[in-house]
Amino acid sequence: MKILVLNAGSSSHKSCLFDLSQGAEDATPQPLWRAALDWTHQQGKVELSASGAGESIQQVLPIADKAEGLEAMVKTLVEGPTQVLESLSDIDAVGHRVVHGGREYIDSVRIDNQVKAAIQRLIPLAPAHNPANLQGIEAMEGILGHVPQVAVFDTAFHARMPEAAATYPGPYAWIEQGIRRYGFHGISHQYVAQRAADLMGQDIASLKILTCHLGNGCSLAAVKNGVCVDTTMGFTPLDGLMMGSRSGSVDPGILIYLMRQEGYTADQLDQLLNKESGLKGLSGRSNDMRAVAEAMEQGDAQAKLAIEVFIHRLRREMGAMIASLGGLDGVVFTAGMGENSPPLWQQACEPFEFLGLQLKPDLSRTKDDQDIAAADSAVRVLVVHTQEEWAIAQACHDLLQQAT
Ligand code: ADP
Repeated sequence: MKILVLNAGSSSHKSCLFDLSQGAEDATPQPLWRAALDWTHQQGKVELSASGAGESIQQVLPIADKAEGLEAMVKTLVEGPTQVLESLSDIDAVGHRVVHGGREYIDSVRIDNQVKAAIQRLIPLAPAHNPANLQGIEAMEGILGHVPQVAVFDTAFHARMPEAAATYPGPYAWIEQGIRRYGFHGISHQYVAQRAADLMGQDIASLKILTCHLGNGCSLAAVKNGVCVDTTMGFTPLDGLMMGSRSGSVDPGILIYLMRQEGYTADQLDQLLNKESGLKGLSGRSNDMRAVAEAMEQGDAQAKLAIEVFIHRLRREMGAMIASLGGLDGVVFTAGMGENSPPLWQQACEPFEFLGLQLKPDLSRTKDDQDIAAADSAVRVLVVHTQEEWAIAQACHDLLQQAT
């Protein structure tokens, strides 16, 4: 079964083609083809990159329309040096990352008009993402015709959280309004928790795992017996940890203060909290941890403070997730910062030494997933490279297999 995966964002799209003909047992297979579209660099133009059949291409095309861009991207599957398919009809299914599935969708689902209407209805809950996801689905319908399409939701893994973890302590009416903790990065948290259990050689159904997705966006999940019982992102992806340019949780009273005293509008607060806060806001330099860490090494006090606040908040929220788990068998680090930063692993784990958690003395990043805990550590600590596209392909495969 050949599955095309599409992760459509507001200004960039990523896509992979996987061949699951051999079954879905292989831990982390490489895609046959991979491509990306990026509209952020040049007005009215798109940068297309693709790799397949051992070749890579990069082009700048005069295309502003997203559907047209996707068509050009998909063509590289069947034409030119990156060709890996004879015909687009060789694609058996398309799996889409859809950011918000609301309360309706707690599992992956075959896309039909009803599902599309729900993704549309949920746009107010994910204004930056769901419109792009829907556009991606409709563009693929236009390009590929009636091939089965599957929505894999980033919220779904968190949908079985206990009500106490999902409910905000506002007025009861919030519940009816759908104001609750949804959680995000679910595809990644689910994949890395399962992968960690596999690496530990144990059944996920008997493990308490804390997963730390630390990329530009950052979130934690408490995974108990395979079910997410708590997570740091909430009604929106702004809640919880400090991130690249997002503040994470702040006292809501600050927002009331800014509105009253400084006349901030909703759009200005949105910009401030999502784009001008976090590592970028505090350091005054960059949302990229590498740049902030470099500045700190050169003696920049603001960069040092930014990293100290990041670590403090990370540890504090890790502690909260461990309380929700009621124990700890494994910690998993994933995404850009989580996969690559030995100092971050050390600083994040240090407060939990009292639980018997011990890291190996010499840590370095590797291409492979690794266990970085000392042999006699009471808690395993794993660095897992997240494979969201592969997880989407697998979910798509499993759903379609069940249906046959
Ligand atoms: P996204 O959420 O956009 O997919 P990524 O998962 O690629 O983001 O993570 C981006 C973050 O990872 C950036 O803050 C970047 O600095 C950080 N990062 C990448 N490599 C390293 C590294 N070697 N050391 C520290 N941080 C890193």
